[in-house]
Amino acid sequence: MVSRSVQEICCLMGQPVAGNPTQYVMEQCFARAGLDWRFLTLEVAADDLADAIGGMRAMGFRGAALTTTHKLAVVSLVDELSRAARLIGRVNLINRQDNKLVGENTDGKGLLASLSGIAPAEGKRAVVLGAGGAARAVAIELALAGAAKITVVNRTESRGQELVEVLGGECGIEAELVVLAGSYAVPDKIDLVVNATPVGLFNPDARVPIDAASLRAGTIVADLVYNPPRTWLLGEAKERGCTTLDGLTMLSNQAMIGFKMWTGVEADAEVMRESLEEFLGL
Ligand code: NAP
Repeated sequence: MVSRSVQEICCLMGQPVAGNPTQYVMEQCFARAGLDWRFLTLEVAADDLADAIGGMRAMGFRGAALTTTHKLAVVSLVDELSRAARLIGRVNLINRQDNKLVGENTDGKGLLASLSGIAPAEGKRAVVLGAGGAARAVAIELALAGAAKITVVNRTESRGQELVEVLGGECGIEAELVVLAGSYAVPDKIDLVVNATPVGLFNPDARVPIDAASLRAGTIVADLVYNPPRTWLLGEAKERGCTTLDGLTMLSNQAMIGFKMWTGVEADAEVMRESLEEFLGL
């Protein structure tokens, strides 16, 4: 690997977006930590991803962040996968260790970090709404952290079934699929409910297909939607005496975890949260 004092992380974007929150927040945190690091945003077409990863090796980048479009394809392009990334089947962060590119997935780790301030994941019976990339990450991280049972609730049966098979197979926990039809009533004895669908994104009035009346006081309700962080689901949950976890806190925790993986240094949590809010105009 090239030896130099300035280190670089790159974000391989699958599609053009107006700005990149990760670049903004990481650069604020590099500055606060006194690290002479750079975060570059590079737009890469799907067909060029393998070349881009080769370029990253050749140019000595310390790591990379990947947007949704590249999370699946990059799995076969790294040298190693963390256990969570392998089970989730998606990589959103590459960490260079010596000369190896290690694929990680931090999408569900922000939820675990938020949860740890309230109650351990161990022994929890959870409902996860959705079976896409974020739902897989959350459900598998909960399983690896010792959750007792996970109910996956999803519209598309095949996608939900795929996740339940990984949970009940290699993760070795009790898992079941409920195919979503109408509004889902949360059964008794559920400790944690997670919305891992995009319902609520940019629309605080959008109703997640969960029967709000079925939410019991004391249940932990988490919404991965981070913009806006106050969603319809969290409002209903709060009114019913649930403990709520918002997506912005999870996203901030996730970025803290990525920063530590790359640099080995803790980011300043206040700078991380404030720069995220500033970037998102919240
Ligand atoms: P994705 O791969 O497209 O998956 C979306 C899932 O939501 C699918 O299971 C889909 O069901 C379900 N879904 C979509 N619209 C629905 C509706 N109207 N009713 C019921 N189910 C619906 O998306 P993703 O990457 O998992 O992202 C999901 C959300 O998580 C996004 O809002 C993303 O921004 C957020 N996220 C937040 C964090 C954080 O740290 N806060 C981290 C990662 C992601 P089908 O399978 O039936 O299509």
